[in-house]
Amino acid sequence: MSFTSFQAPLLAKRLQGKVAIITGGASGIGASTAKLFAKNGAKVVIADIQNDLGSSISKEVEDIKYIHCDVTQENDVKHVVDTTMSKYGQLDIMFNNAGVPATRSAIQILTSDVEDFKKVFDVNVCGGFLGAKHAARVMIPAKKGSIIFTASAVSVTTGDAPHSYTASKHAVVGLAKNLCGELGQYGIRVNCISPYLVATPMLTNGMGIDQSKAEEIMSEAANLKGVVMKAEDIAEAAVFLGSDASSYISGINLVVDGGYSITTPAIK
Ligand code: NAD
Repeated sequence: MSFTSFQAPLLAKRLQGKVAIITGGASGIGASTAKLFAKNGAKVVIADIQNDLGSSISKEVEDIKYIHCDVTQENDVKHVVDTTMSKYGQLDIMFNNAGVPATRSAIQILTSDVEDFKKVFDVNVCGGFLGAKHAARVMIPAKKGSIIFTASAVSVTTGDAPHSYTASKHAVVGLAKNLCGELGQYGIRVNCISPYLVATPMLTNGMGIDQSKAEEIMSEAANLKGVVMKAEDIAEAAVFLGSDASSYISGINLVVDGGYSITTPAIK
């Protein structure tokens, strides 16, 4: 086999013929993933609450549709899955990516507010649970599918994130592992992606700084120097886990952090 013919499959569209739903797809990691999925041949449905942003991505890219969906509302999630099935007749990839940060006061237990704690769990954990539930409803009869969750590097290290956020991302990994066991009999794969810090609106708005300042701060703390982590790096991981290239990978937590979590002591 010549070098050229060996390379050809790698350059092919990796998600050709697949249909994906991406929650939280109007911004940051989800928006980058939606665009990379479409570039790789997938039909994509963005499910989000930011209607202006979601609609503008849909106008920009023909193979991306936007549907309003609050992932904490079961009827909204059911509607997105049912509409996707009516339009495309299949659902191959469910990317449960929508998430919210906690308030900064939640970094210390004595100033943590229980309502904030519940809100973080409602979106980050229950939202993912509902996405997986309604995806499984249509994937089980099809006997195939890839369910992906966005967890976080704080799912493998305690770090110094707010308690609610860290706990929610550990819960997401636990949920995914349980689902991996339950849904394997139907040929459905369930995996997590755990990013290190990415300069998305979640981070820059929370810190009150712009993208380049956020990237500068992150690079100082990062293990891997000279490479700035981008939302596209997570999108690439999602393409891999959604594609047939990962057809025997289930139950993993793919940590995309340049080695941060294994080189940074949990307790400082
Ligand atoms: P982002 O704020 O750019 O995107 C999050 C998206 O989720 C937004 O479009 C928002 O509208 C949507 N969303 C929030 N609540 C929702 C709800 N109830 N229903 C539907 N959509 C909702 O942030 P991001 O960084 O792209 O975050 C994506 C995921 O990555 C989140 O799960 C986040 O926890 C995780 N994550 C982010 C980082 C980081 O540093 N940015 C690191 C690790 C993990």
